[in-house]
Order: sequence, then structure tokens, then C-alpha cells
Amino acid sequence: TYVVTDACIRCKYMDCVEVCPVDCFYEGENMLVINPNECIDCGVCEPECPAEAILPDTENGLEKWLELNRSYSESW
Ligand code: SF4
Repeated sequence: TYVVTDACIRCKYMDCVEVCPVDCFYEGENMLVINPNECIDCGVCEPECPAEAILPDTENGLEKWLELNRSYSESW
């Protein structure tokens, strides 16, 4: 799955939401999040993010952000 990280906080761009083929972006408290169960790992959103906030969860140290993406997106 891909994960939205802190660079997204208060970002006003929604480019990622528009390109996601499965509509798995949700609104978190002050940032967007990706539902890890719905993300199909296509990677289309990553280069679209002007804040470079979207990363694959295979990168180190993203556990905290993955959990945040999961809990925010599942509270809908
Ligand atoms: Fe959506 Fe693809 Fe990004 Fe996952 S990797 S959030 S499916 S655009």
C-alpha cells in the first residue's frame, strides 16, 4: 500500500484524489489518508503529490503513518 505522511498536513492540493483509480483517499483530521485495504499499489498518486507526501509503505520508518492512514480511513 501507499501511505500519506506529514508533508500532507494542511495541503490544499487534491491531485492525488483525482488520479486514484479506486478512490481510496479519505479525509483525516488535517490531512488526506489512504485506506490500506483499498489501495491497489498502482503508484499513480505518488508523482502527482506536489508535497511529496505519498510514499510506498516499503520505505523504512512509516509504521506510525501507516497506522494513522488505517485508523483515519476506517473511521468513515
Ligand atoms: Fe490510489 Fe494507486 Fe495511490 Fe493506491 S497507489 S492510493 S490505488 S493511486
